[in-house]
Amino acid sequence: MRKFKTESKKLLNLMINSIYTNREIFLRELISNASDAEDKLYFRSLTDSSIELGKSDLVINVAFDKEARTITVSDNGIGMDKDSLDANLGVIAHSDSMEFKSAQFADVEKPEEEIEADEEQAVPNSDAVDIIGQFGVGFYSGFMVADKVRVVSRAYGDDQAWAWESDGVEGYTIKEAAREGHGTDVILHLKPNTDEEDYDSFLSEYGIKDLIKRYSNYVRYPVQMMVTKSRQKPEPDPKPEDYKPEWEEYQELETINSMTPIWKRRKSEVEQAEYNEFYKSQFHDFTDPQRTIVVHAEGAISYDVLLFIPGRRPFDYYSKEYERGLQLYSSNVLIMDKCEELLPDYYGFVRGVVSSQDLTLNISRETLQHNSQLRAIAKKVEKKITAELQKMRDNEREEYEKFFENFGRALKYGIYTSYGMNKEELGSLLLFYSAKEQKMVTLDEYVASMPENQKAIYYAAGESTERLGKMPMVTGVVSKGYDVLLCTQDVDDFCFQAMANYAEKDLKNVAGADLGLESEGDKAAAEETAKANEDLLGAMKEALDEEVTKVAVSSVLTDAPAALTSEGPVSLEMEKVLAGMPDAEGMRSQRVLELNANHPVFEVLASAQEAGDADKVKRYSRLLLNQALLVEGLPIDDPVEFAQQIAELMQ
Ligand code: ADP
Repeated sequence: MRKFKTESKKLLNLMINSIYTNREIFLRELISNASDAEDKLYFRSLTDSSIELGKSDLVINVAFDKEARTITVSDNGIGMDKDSLDANLGVIAHSDSMEFKSAQFADVEKPEEEIEADEEQAVPNSDAVDIIGQFGVGFYSGFMVADKVRVVSRAYGDDQAWAWESDGVEGYTIKEAAREGHGTDVILHLKPNTDEEDYDSFLSEYGIKDLIKRYSNYVRYPVQMMVTKSRQKPEPDPKPEDYKPEWEEYQELETINSMTPIWKRRKSEVEQAEYNEFYKSQFHDFTDPQRTIVVHAEGAISYDVLLFIPGRRPFDYYSKEYERGLQLYSSNVLIMDKCEELLPDYYGFVRGVVSSQDLTLNISRETLQHNSQLRAIAKKVEKKITAELQKMRDNEREEYEKFFENFGRALKYGIYTSYGMNKEELGSLLLFYSAKEQKMVTLDEYVASMPENQKAIYYAAGESTERLGKMPMVTGVVSKGYDVLLCTQDVDDFCFQAMANYAEKDLKNVAGADLGLESEGDKAAAEETAKANEDLLGAMKEALDEEVTKVAVSSVLTDAPAALTSEGPVSLEMEKVLAGMPDAEGMRSQRVLELNANHPVFEVLASAQEAGDADKVKRYSRLLLNQALLVEGLPIDDPVEFAQQIAELMQ
């Protein structure tokens, strides 16, 4: 027996117990090695005319034997002779594949600048070989699930095969063996089940198929397996009266992986139906995607990107359960299922695949070493999504409204959580319901149709556009000739506060004090009225001391006798949202009761004050406040008292 070197033993132990977090990747590693072996032989055949070989001759086979507890991965690639077995499998962390790759491609210089090949342009030809191995440890991941590994290999051109065998602890043996043809069989003898680990689950057709499809679906050689199928037995002739069809099981060799990665193909060469099928099976959706985005980039880092905007919102999208991220493939082998770094939060609804051969992976191939590569790709991904959304917004408004209905809230959260940093880009993608136009408009459209004297963008926040449209402050602003955006999502007010302004126009909630609407004349008139009625306003403030911070004369109201507005950072609408949050208790708006001095009710109040009827002033103040609260959709402190007062008035 040849012993592993001491360092190797330590490394092996580390490998088996700590490098990988996920045992099931052992099959991915072995299939990747098999693919590398096929690649190496294929590459040699390109320059060695004595090798008669077509790419289609190269196949990988996976088999399992439940009784013997073995899984066998076979290839008909380059194979290993006795010395290579010793060098490659006897020394852990020695990657012959990496050396092969460096030797072949050492003088291929990558262009400095990134050239992007979009769907219109030709896709650069992928390298003739696509070597996956680079660390020289993947093979040993087999020992995570096996207590014995036997490798039978015959190098291309040799007559003699050799068997390498090890328990993954002390050392290994290499003995003469027999094998038909060149290539390698890696035979894993699985460990017995324990309480914690279910190794038996790997010994099933379903289990293995699932692993191949999940991790090695796009390996470029066919990965075949014998599968059990059932069929109807042929009908006897003549058919007896009481004939019932009979079924039988049979075995058939099936290619499990789909091989051609759809993201490598030019968009013009792929039918939309193919993309739709891929999307639905890969991302478990039953509706077609709304949009498909394809990017091919060649340069310092080359990569292919295939993105989808889903056609419907996942039911858990706005919950904690939803996991965003794109699938990350390196050399067509799945590395990460949900790579978060590739997508900004607000585009978390996008599903898709990023594939690159140039990623520097860490040893377990579970994470990446250099995040700068990822960041560069993520930047491009974000730019592409934004461009696609802008295109849809400008050219297909109906489609865009559908998109916005599904995911618009995510964009608003994006602005809110980044404190408005990205408001120019994301803000232009938002849609709001216009009180004037009675349809969804963008902020840019709103600004474009503003009358010359309008200084701010006005909005109102509440439950429904119908209700908002009737609010006194909204009708007041609209009567001045200005449009108001009617916002019905809880995030809207927060989003606008984070933005503060858009296209150099302040964003103002019509329920906020100081709308800056009034002309100098209006202002002076309101001030004069307030001064003349100082006593009344004072008495009312006293009557409502707990509830409002101020009672003022409005210069906006037209029809309603009074309305509530707010001062300070928390708006009335925000207060409603915050009321539902445990941490935000006590976050209240500073309420202002604004009075319409042109309304008959104001006259009634003024004369009561003049006549010294303090009780009436008090009662009417409460009535007005409660009315205003109702209109705002806010709770009334004492509904019984309110009902009684109305009844009294009616009598
Ligand atoms: P890596 O694949 O990262 O190089 P491995 O530990 O998986 O590392 O494999 C070590 C080396 O063993 C490979 O570089 C390759 O030369 C050789 N090897 C492994 N599996 C095979 C195989 N099926 N056929 C031929 N060579 C193989």
